[in-house]
Amino acid sequence: MSDLLSAHGPRIVAIANQKGGVGKTTTAINLGAALAEQGQRVLLIDIDPQGNASTGLGVEPDDRTYTSYELMLDDAQLDQIIMQSDVQNLDIVPATVDLSSADIELIANEKRSFLLHDALRQPAMNDLNYDYILIDCPPSLNLLTVNAMVAAHSVLVPLQSEFFALEGLSQLMLTIREVRQSANPNLRIEGIVLTMYDSRNNLSQQVEEDARENLGDLVFRTIIPRNVRVSEAPSFSVPVLEFDTMSKGAAAYRALASELLQKHESVAA
Ligand code: ADP
Ligand code: MG
Repeated sequence: MSDLLSAHGPRIVAIANQKGGVGKTTTAINLGAALAEQGQRVLLIDIDPQGNASTGLGVEPDDRTYTSYELMLDDAQLDQIIMQSDVQNLDIVPATVDLSSADIELIANEKRSFLLHDALRQPAMNDLNYDYILIDCPPSLNLLTVNAMVAAHSVLVPLQSEFFALEGLSQLMLTIREVRQSANPNLRIEGIVLTMYDSRNNLSQQVEEDARENLGDLVFRTIIPRNVRVSEAPSFSVPVLEFDTMSKGAAAYRALASELLQKHESVAA
């Protein structure tokens, strides 16, 4: 959608991969925190019924009165739906398991693919002056993920440095192409980020080689290493940037945020 927002409003990035456990939520939380640390105003929207991003940022299930479901259905005010996280400059729209029925409930809705798109383009959203909106997608190419792709300017794909990592990509690319054709012609691929990389493991290196050979510049230069501090942080309800600010994981997500910002600055220039 070429609208004024794409020039002046927040940059909306869907974080998607239909495989579970590849680092989508971890990337949403920590890239969000790293962008926020670098002075960007960030909104993270959790659209995974598992609500891991909400939990990882310390939003207790009992406090999730309004969620991304109400956001999509325009069933509550933005100031009721958007919650502040403990991280400065980082807000969140939480998710609950209620979202799991949305996929079916929304089928009959004429605007079913555009609900998030429309919610994010309401004037009240623009007034909040976010620089980035990151959408943490569920591990599926369902209607929720399609909503994210229709709403977004770009898709960021975490790719686990594991065997078969590249296998699911063609299906994901196909979905992106379909969304471009049907609803969002300007949807871009923001980039593919290798996650849980283990430099001592030949397999990780092989996946990186394959990815760079096949996908070229689409692959971010920054690689996210496997780092136990990254996996420990969510149980303390904070991004790894706060949990262990000097850890390799924190450094990697800071570098990813810088790379992303640099890209966007050079595009804007
Ligand atoms: P997804 O959202 O794609 O399902 P997650 O972000 O929840 O994936 O990650 C899956 C698991 O891997 C989680 O337990 C998470 O803590 C762990 N994890 C993710 N990234 C890293 C990393 N860089 N190092 C170590 N563990 C990680
Ligand atoms: Mg997740």
